[in-house]
Amino acid sequence: MLDDPLVQDLLKEIINDPIEDDSDNIEIVRCLNDGITTDEEIAEKTGIRLNIVRKMLYKLYDAGLASYKRHKDPETQWFSYDWQFEPEEVNNTLRKHIHEEIEEYEKILDDEKNNMFFVCPQGHNRFGFEDASNNDFVCPECGEEIVFEPNDEFIESLEKEIASLQEKYESIGN
Ligand SMILES: [Zn+2]
Repeated sequence: MLDDPLVQDLLKEIINDPIEDDSDNIEIVRCLNDGITTDEEIAEKTGIRLNIVRKMLYKLYDAGLASYKRHKDPETQWFSYDWQFEPEEVNNTLRKHIHEEIEEYEKILDDEKNNMFFVCPQGHNRFGFEDASNNDFVCPECGEEIVFEPNDEFIESLEKEIASLQEKYESIGN
């Protein structure tokens, strides 16, 4: 599962760290997925600093992809945590992300299908009919007349994008 590029992209999004070099953080997930449960063991196995391991574990927890159980050591009175990866949540989260993307594209597609568009020949602006009309069909930036622009090709590319996202959506978990 962790070698699936979709899953890797999702995990990278969650466990990225703009300050630290985070290219190895995926190893933390790999350890969890292999059943290693404590932050110390993960740090030891991966060579990643303990505080980074902890931070990443909480990021995964925050995203719903990991859970933990807390124990109190009867001798030392210290708490320890047993972490667990939640693979089925990975698929749910992926589905949710892709679903949101599809919805965004569909909104744009709808807008493109139900409107006509006008552009400045200099490339300054693109207007829907209302805005174009409100600007007397003149570009407010350069004063040139704006011209009708067919959007069939854009619509086609949106439809292709949506179809490929739907394919991705259906491939999750298979
Ligand atoms: Zn212009």
